[in-house]
Amino acid sequence: MTRFPVANGELLVGGIPLSRVAARVGRTPFYAYDRSLLTARVEELRAALPPAVKLHYAMKANPMPALVCHMAGLVDGIDVASAGELRVALDAGADPRDISFAGPGKSEAELRQAVAAGILVNVESFREVPILAAAQQALGLPARVAVRVNPDFELKSSGMKMGGGPKQFGVDAEEVPALLAEIGRVGLAFEGFHLFAGSQNLKPEAIAEAQQKSFALALRLAEHAPATVRTLNLGGGFGIPYFPGEQPLDLAPIGDNLAAIAAEAAARLPQAELVIELGRYLVGEAGLYVARVIDRKVSRGHTYLVTDGGLHHHLSASGNFGQVIRKNYPVVIGNRMGAEATENVSVVGPLCTPLDLLADRMNLAAAQPGDLVVIYQSGAYGASASPQQFLGHPPVTEVLV
Ligand SMILES: *Cc1c(COP(=O)(O)O)cnc(C)c1O
Repeated sequence: MTRFPVANGELLVGGIPLSRVAARVGRTPFYAYDRSLLTARVEELRAALPPAVKLHYAMKANPMPALVCHMAGLVDGIDVASAGELRVALDAGADPRDISFAGPGKSEAELRQAVAAGILVNVESFREVPILAAAQQALGLPARVAVRVNPDFELKSSGMKMGGGPKQFGVDAEEVPALLAEIGRVGLAFEGFHLFAGSQNLKPEAIAEAQQKSFALALRLAEHAPATVRTLNLGGGFGIPYFPGEQPLDLAPIGDNLAAIAAEAAARLPQAELVIELGRYLVGEAGLYVARVIDRKVSRGHTYLVTDGGLHHHLSASGNFGQVIRKNYPVVIGNRMGAEATENVSVVGPLCTPLDLLADRMNLAAAQPGDLVVIYQSGAYGASASPQQFLGHPPVTEVLV
């Protein structure tokens, strides 16, 4: 967790000491996202991946408008999952040609908005086809579509599986030829395929295997396509390390594999642009959650640091967002970085529930009320993925530094 530098015993965010950032924000708790780390992450990825592969940002990982604006200037497209996210992406200046929209329960209104905006809709159900055809007719605009395929395989060793077997996402691969025929019959503007098999994966061989299988499946389905395949979105699923023993993802084998796929695609689907879409991997390591210690309580020999932040802002760090066994996110005392981690403590929030646990029996520098507890790896699935109304505490502030 060395992406954020330290100077004079304090973490630096965007080059500014944490306590000064806290003073500038004017309150705790807050999320701070570091622009330079976001930019560096995209540059690292571009260096590792073949230039033919386009990089999209899946903004559900972090929809903060200023951050989406920053990302829109760095990546080749934005993937949205609701009309609300579409509005943020358009406000951020993303080109509608490079925005795509996925999600299993798109409303009629959302589908019409998508056609009016001129973005690409990833069709996930037969139900969407007549709605899009009607919108196309009413607006006098082409309904640009790709078919989201629920593959007949899964992304192995993923934190969250989103393809393979029965799923609410996409259309089962075996049903896709019939869907393509329907898309052709009603005259939607078919552009390609979207496959997304899973999330939070740290095994390059598993990711490479899923990409190979996705590509092979797309080649088979392309034989049924009503028009030339112009886009092939191979998904993502790149993970980041959160817990002891986890290693950062090795991009080199993924880059090699994508280069091989790009070479084959150039021969077999020459008009198709290859896309990968990443959320967590692009933004997760560039964000911190910062809460202030309110109280130090000792209960029967165990020390609790009670903070003003908790699961209502950071459900993921409390272990209640997709974890099976609760593990601690990396936590430090951000204004005591020079001190040894000599105390074994639990960090809790202000909520009246034992689930409000940010660190369970961790070794940290000895902290006092007023000190700043920092949770690393907090740039993705933080504020927007947390139940902020729960117990009526103030909402969290987010800043881009
Ligand atoms: C959630 C999601 C993503 C982003 O997943 P990450 O694990 O954050 O990279 C990308 N595409 C689709 C379709 C998604 O649902």
